[in-house]
Amino acid sequence: QTPTSYFYTDAAIIEPFTKARKKYSHKGSFGHALLIGGSYGKIGSIVLSAKACLRSGAGLLTVQAPQCGYDIIQTSIPEAMVLPDWHWRINTAVPNIEPYSAIGIGPGMGQDPQTLLMLRELLTLLTSPIVLDADALNLLSKHPDMLTILPKNSILTPHPKELQRLLGQSWKDDYEKLTLLRDFSQKYQLIVCLKGAHTAVALPDGSIHFNSTGNPGMATGGSGDVLTGIITGLLAQGMHPTDAAVFGVFQHGKAGDRAAQKCTQPALIASDIINEMRW
Ligand code: AMP
Ligand code: MG
Repeated sequence: QTPTSYFYTDAAIIEPFTKARKKYSHKGSFGHALLIGGSYGKIGSIVLSAKACLRSGAGLLTVQAPQCGYDIIQTSIPEAMVLPDWHWRINTAVPNIEPYSAIGIGPGMGQDPQTLLMLRELLTLLTSPIVLDADALNLLSKHPDMLTILPKNSILTPHPKELQRLLGQSWKDDYEKLTLLRDFSQKYQLIVCLKGAHTAVALPDGSIHFNSTGNPGMATGGSGDVLTGIITGLLAQGMHPTDAAVFGVFQHGKAGDRAAQKCTQPALIASDIINEMRW
């Protein structure tokens, strides 16, 4: 077996990405992100992703959500545009992807058969990498043929259970976990962020980048949805998928560390991570 190269993401590595904006830039300079997700009872997930996406610096954001999310999103995030699905409860419509510089899909989306049809059709239209999380990953796990049509360098953000579903197996120890993660990433040429303490970002070249930021206060509902928004927002601004994943994971943890400083780990909720995002 080829040895894996391991890296550690610390403040020095992210420095080149924290540049001041050019004076004559405008919102069109920072891309247009599309986030797809939410379902009845889980609109909060896509709200969290949307806020984080805007805080990541994306110039424009459109959120595709079911009808039941329309008022919620328009009220809680006036900065975002909403593309309401015709369906009241779930996402079913395949959006026109032409206006968007990046797409993120999955938070709170549910796994209805009609949503699966939408995801499958959407994937066939893509020409550039997409961010997949949560129920988008669960649907991929149940229909692994879709993995082969994902654009190279698409970014997957599974927590350990979601990765086990994608792999169709568990692992006996950390060494086997990392080997399976690396092999999966190389086989499908995908960027896979295995979330948790020291999130491991596996790249298609076989390297693994461990994150240095974050804390157990982030083990709370919605934390992952925030990460999806951040990475989608960075991708929308033209960042290379590798950088968007590694830098996004780092900044997400950094914001979580600031939030824990302010409110303690137990009191931390996902919205606090968004509010502590700084570039
Ligand atoms: P999710 O399970 O999708 O909500 O994602 C959880 C998020 O919180 C991921 O970004 C994890 O990296 C982060 N997280 C969860 N537990 C910890 C932990 N013990 N230390 C650091 N980060 C964590
Ligand atoms: Mg999640």
